[in-house]
Amino acid sequence: MGILFDLVNAVRTGSVEVVDLTAPLSSETPILQLPPPFANTIPFGLEEISRYDDRGPAWYWNDIHTGEHTGTHLDAPVHWVTGRDGEDVSQIPPLKLVAPAAVIDVSARVADDPDFLLEIADVREWESAHGPLPREGWLLVRTGWDARSAVQSDFLNADETGPHTPGISVECAKWLADEAPVIGVGVETVGTDAGQAFGFDPAFPCHSYVLGAGKYGLTQLQNLDRLPPVGAVVIAAPLPIVGGSGSPARVLALVER
Ligand code: MN
Repeated sequence: MGILFDLVNAVRTGSVEVVDLTAPLSSETPILQLPPPFANTIPFGLEEISRYDDRGPAWYWNDIHTGEHTGTHLDAPVHWVTGRDGEDVSQIPPLKLVAPAAVIDVSARVADDPDFLLEIADVREWESAHGPLPREGWLLVRTGWDARSAVQSDFLNADETGPHTPGISVECAKWLADEAPVIGVGVETVGTDAGQAFGFDPAFPCHSYVLGAGKYGLTQLQNLDRLPPVGAVVIAAPLPIVGGSGSPARVLALVER
């Protein structure tokens, strides 16, 4: 009957598992906090319109209040000044939203060092074990940070010197942007850059280089521990917000069992 029929059958019978990489969206969902003088986004919120009452006797519905960069979300190129002439989130071709994933697990090293930075050598070592990064695929960085996502203070892990969360080195960000065959980078933290990346040169190198190269970011993923190093397919579905710099996204992975 064809590959799509086979795929649905495989999902139904469990030989392909659908793994949800998305954090639940609620008023408790952690959000980025920039220091003054920078402006900040709002927490996610539900505002009830009616709930089977005199405002609407048979129906329940809400307005939502959210930032584009709240919870699990996709960064579009136009999010960063280096990508200002690039795609907004509504302009990303749908075919790019279905893509293979490489998963690199650095969680053991992050456990010892919350400021851990992924280096080119780490990706090269991964490639020597698993083959080249997938063309037009995602590099997903498993850090174990999703275990902290229930509590904002744990997730941001900030002290008087700023947030301490893992990320990607300046050199590796530039390499992923300009040389690696990937369409983007996915992380478990609140943004694709390390907590201390405000002090890097350039500041926020993953945003600067990757979005500047017309590539994408995926943030606040979870359940990456349930993906193999190679072979998963990611379906990332941001809302097509016209002119939007990003969008909360439902991100699913298909994994053969
Ligand atoms: Mn973002």
